[in-house]
Amino acid sequence: MLKIKAADKMVQVMAAWGIDNVYGLPGDSVDTTVEALYRHQDQIKFTQVRHEEVAALAASAHAKLTGRVGVCLSIGGPGAIHLLNGLYDAKMDHAPVVAIVGQVQSQLLNTGFFQEVDTPNLCADVAVYNKLVTSPATLPKLMDEAIRMAYKYQGVSVLTIPDDIPDHKIADNFQPTAGQFQLQRPQAQISEVDQALRMLQHAQKPLVLLGTGARHAQAAAREFVERYALPFIQTMPAKGIIADDHPNALGQIGKLGTKPAYEAMFNADLLILIGTDYPYAPYLNQHIPAIQIDWDPSKIGHRHNVALSLVADAQSALTLLNARGQVVNGRPFLAACQKNMRIWRSWMHDVQNKPHTGVLPSKMFAQLSKTAPKDVVWSVDVGTATSFGARFIDVQPTQKYTISAWLGTMGCALPGGIAAKSVWPQRLVYAICGDGAFAMVMQDFVTAVKYNLPMVVVVLNNKLLAFIEYEQQSAGQQNYAVDLAEIDFAKFAEACGGVGVNVTTDAEFAQALEKYQHPTKPVLINAAVYDEAPLPGKIVKDEAQGYLHFGFDYFKENFQMPKMPPFQEILRQFL
Ligand code: FAD
Repeated sequence: MLKIKAADKMVQVMAAWGIDNVYGLPGDSVDTTVEALYRHQDQIKFTQVRHEEVAALAASAHAKLTGRVGVCLSIGGPGAIHLLNGLYDAKMDHAPVVAIVGQVQSQLLNTGFFQEVDTPNLCADVAVYNKLVTSPATLPKLMDEAIRMAYKYQGVSVLTIPDDIPDHKIADNFQPTAGQFQLQRPQAQISEVDQALRMLQHAQKPLVLLGTGARHAQAAAREFVERYALPFIQTMPAKGIIADDHPNALGQIGKLGTKPAYEAMFNADLLILIGTDYPYAPYLNQHIPAIQIDWDPSKIGHRHNVALSLVADAQSALTLLNARGQVVNGRPFLAACQKNMRIWRSWMHDVQNKPHTGVLPSKMFAQLSKTAPKDVVWSVDVGTATSFGARFIDVQPTQKYTISAWLGTMGCALPGGIAAKSVWPQRLVYAICGDGAFAMVMQDFVTAVKYNLPMVVVVLNNKLLAFIEYEQQSAGQQNYAVDLAEIDFAKFAEACGGVGVNVTTDAEFAQALEKYQHPTKPVLINAAVYDEAPLPGKIVKDEAQGYLHFGFDYFKENFQMPKMPPFQEILRQFL
């Protein structure tokens, strides 16, 4: 029987599953695995990051963008602990990720050795599959299983590998199961589809809420809303499944949503939830019946009472729904929503003309949206970038949009950009972050330089945690600890070997975008932005009361009015 090092066989298994990139940082408890990756670098690239959190966030973004498993690697102990944030991002956004975590040598296990952390225990909550490898012969099989489980459960697999194990020789007789694996996609039943069509036929004001579960069913989703003249809302991470500027689109719903979406929701008489677990209950009309399509039976009725459930893959359900119903040529509810949306769009146009200093975020995002190529990848961070991105970027089905949607971790945009550029070197990638978010991971701008990943990073620099500033105000609290010390990010980018540009006006920003449509090095545009309020599309009563409370207390303390968004903006989004 031929013999092979366990580490080499493990890497062969990874390659058999099509893994071509590992994001990580070497170190003493993972050295033998890294050495195997060195031997197989023609098959699997190693992207060395400067902080393990970035490795895990990049692996998570890699999986969200491509649907293929993302892999990250670190030493045990501190490295594994650093990975956790990105692993939670993958868990919560249902992204298949495998984490290879080093460990002290087998004979030192459980001796309380240097950097020995009980990683299987540490990762128990984050992982769908979580094993300590105890014998070299099982290593390839456990890697195979780890990948399979990450796909099956759309979650995180963790393998903790004591560093001596991969170095042993084992019999070379393991067959990876990659060729045999197929994700189970439950098919829709005709009887349920026909029942759904009957409900749709009787409804006057049906509304679709489309989520990420329909990402692979872009064309069928579009056909569905067009065929039955349905207005639709997309969840924020589902942006662009159908073009955000489609005539039936109402944008998002929620704090970063639109007023027409909110009004449609509370005027509708039937809600059709497709591949979504949208969490914000106050924005869902609980008084109307709902049809829910989701492939996971545990998600049925999770957020809304359901009159009819289709436990099915979105593609299968939508294909049947499109095949079996009569075309609807327009409906008054759709026309009313469209009229509302035209008014909303004109307001959003006005907003971009408000008096300001520096670069106006609403205008800069609209400019990004207008000038981006058809195949751009948007990697957007958490903070006000999330709000302006949702509202002002019209994502197209040919583009990609990634964010930390459920964990909402700051610092996700740069790792997302690194992943996007690694997967698609030819596509333009925008990583858009606030100054607070970028500073959490900024050391890895140099990773983009090192691996020649010429993305464009846009930093909205307002020296503020602006999202929190407005959150405090809308809760009626005084602003505290939201100011940030200034960093010259352009200088920093240059120090890393990239291109750094400072822009202080809308015109300079537009010029920088134009200049760097085809960057040859990573570019960082450090934009001195105006502190523009990311107002909710529909300001609800509690928020209005919060702002009033904040304004009143501010006046009492400072004897002057606080800086507030234009009254017209507040009023029309409140009424
Ligand atoms: P998920 O929650 O991931 O749900 C996907 C569903 O699809 C799951 O139930 C899954 O079982 C199902 N599914 C998967 N594959 C299939 C398939 N093949 N067929 C059928 N079903 C399938 N979001 C908003 O929409 N509005 C907001 O205002 C908003 N504000 C936010 C603010 C911040 C600062 C941040 C960070 C995030 C915000 N989000 C907002 C995102 C929000 O937290 C949720 O992550 C998001 O709404 C969930 O979107 P989803 O339902 O599409 O995805």
